[in-house]
Amino acid sequence: MLEIEDVHSHYGLSHVIQGISLSVRPGEVMGVFGRNGVGKTTLLKTVAGWLAPSSGAIRLNGCEIGGQEPDAINRAGVAFVPEDRRIFPGLSVQENLELGMLGLRGAKPRDPLGPVLERFPRLAERARQSATTLSGGEQQMLAMARIMVADPDVVLIDEPSEGLAPMIVAEIFAIIRQMRDDGKAVLLVEQNIHEAVSVCDRFVAIERGRIVLDGDPEDAEDRNSLIGQLSV
Ligand code: ADP
Repeated sequence: MLEIEDVHSHYGLSHVIQGISLSVRPGEVMGVFGRNGVGKTTLLKTVAGWLAPSSGAIRLNGCEIGGQEPDAINRAGVAFVPEDRRIFPGLSVQENLELGMLGLRGAKPRDPLGPVLERFPRLAERARQSATTLSGGEQQMLAMARIMVADPDVVLIDEPSEGLAPMIVAEIFAIIRQMRDDGKAVLLVEQNIHEAVSVCDRFVAIERGRIVLDGDPEDAEDRNSLIGQLSV
């Protein structure tokens, strides 16, 4: 369980996150929506440790992780798939996946890549190829597969559908559903709300670094408020 409590964070004098509280349970996808520049990515970066919160608490399964180094947060069980996907083009698909083993906690399983390759047949077929031969959608899959190697409790995903064709976007969202079914707590930032809202169990809308709407995707009124919020 991820708990974010009254978190503030800033870049220099720019106070971007201004008191956000939310929690994400295992097996739940929480959507984070809002117009450009409201602080969605900054929230994910703060949870991932790329940016230290200036105040507030971030807890994973009851333990405070706020302000720790990104590697420590990753090893504690929080994985981040940033918007630029961070694929290493000089490496093969398999080598890119092996980098996910850096986030492993405890003893190394004998075949950490096995279960992941089974789940991502497109990547398994091309394990020895250079990551540059993958399409944008496959690179997004590789970034998501890589973090799954370490079997994290919490997955932070920033704009996974950005720049991708609709067919592959459906596959990317299917992977997110699979993560949820595997019991991950997923915090998902997405511009493509019409697609994303269908994957979410709950959502929040952010405006100027604060939550202005906390909604249920099944509720038509909440969905309409969200669309209204984003079109203001
Ligand atoms: P969103 O993800 O909602 O589009 P961001 O979290 O990327 O918004 O950005 C929130 C605000 O913080 C924006 O005004 C943006 O210009 C600013 N910002 C983002 N990254 C930095 C940075 N590295 N340094 C200074 N300001 C930044």
